Amino acid sequence: MSDLRTELVEAGLLFPTGVDGVLGRSAMFETVLEQVNKAVSGWGREAKAEAVHFPPVMSRTQLERNGYLKSFPQLAAELHGCITPPPGSEPDAAVSQTGLMMVPAACYPIYPMLASRGALAADGALFDIYSWCFRHEPSIEPARLQSFRMHEYVRVGRPSDVAAFRESWMKMAAEIYQSLRLPHELIVSNDAFFGRSGRLMASSQRERNLKFELVVPVNNEREPTACCSFNYAEAHFTEAWDIRMSDGSHAHSACVGFGMERTTLALFRHHGLDPERWPADVRSVLFQS
Ligand code: 5GP
Ligand code: ZN
Repeated sequence: MSDLRTELVEAGLLFPTGVDGVLGRSAMFETVLEQVNKAVSGWGREAKAEAVHFPPVMSRTQLERNGYLKSFPQLAAELHGCITPPPGSEPDAAVSQTGLMMVPAACYPIYPMLASRGALAADGALFDIYSWCFRHEPSIEPARLQSFRMHEYVRVGRPSDVAAFRESWMKMAAEIYQSLRLPHELIVSNDAFFGRSGRLMASSQRERNLKFELVVPVNNEREPTACCSFNYAEAHFTEAWDIRMSDGSHAHSACVGFGMERTTLALFRHHGLDPERWPADVRSVLFQS
């Protein structure tokens, strides 16, 4: 495979910004991404997910309570006020804490919101969240961005309902990628937990099948790229936020995250740089409405 980044930049689909992992997109790239998003959203509407919208920043305290700063400090990004004070200002005005961090995965703001609602209904809850996400991992590869969009479905409820949700969404996601004629595979995976204790967490996550990924060759055939993730968090978030079922037990949670830029890149990689020339069945899935 040739260098995807060069091809996409030369075709005017992506614009370099001078910062690795931060890319501008053309109208055509966005049109395709939006159509992929519509296809994903259709499944969420059918499942009667409650759509909620959050900004791409959230409270540092809340992200800390979600455990993110312990598990992934290397990826986290905090917002500060003005770093270089204007001439003549007080020296202690140099850096002001905003108390905000970039949202690293669309699902994180859901837990504080849910906690504030009180006990869950017996059949739990299902959310649809679409958000810009940020992870501090600069890379030249277009499939590894620092700033990207994730469309997530989050199920909170009885362990058996949550497990069944993840199972059925793995099947539905595979159908979406099949309908887009993208070669894909479901694999067991793990998150990039930080440090030595992180390695233990990663191997336990694998052993217990807590994370699956739907991978598609994007940059190369050897290391296919995770375009969609299926994470079973058990009671990790619900204990942190004391989210309980009406019988008093802690709920479980799972999330399914579609990587919007990665799926769009996969389409350009496999079907070519001109969507007008994509296979008719792929076009009919994406451009029917
Ligand atoms: P996870 O939370 O499982 O790491 O990520 C969920 C989904 O977000 C992934 O399956 C992937 O599609 C997308 N994603 C994760 N990291 C990146 C990244 O660095 N760049 C892009 N474009 N998408 C990512
Ligand atoms: Zn998530």
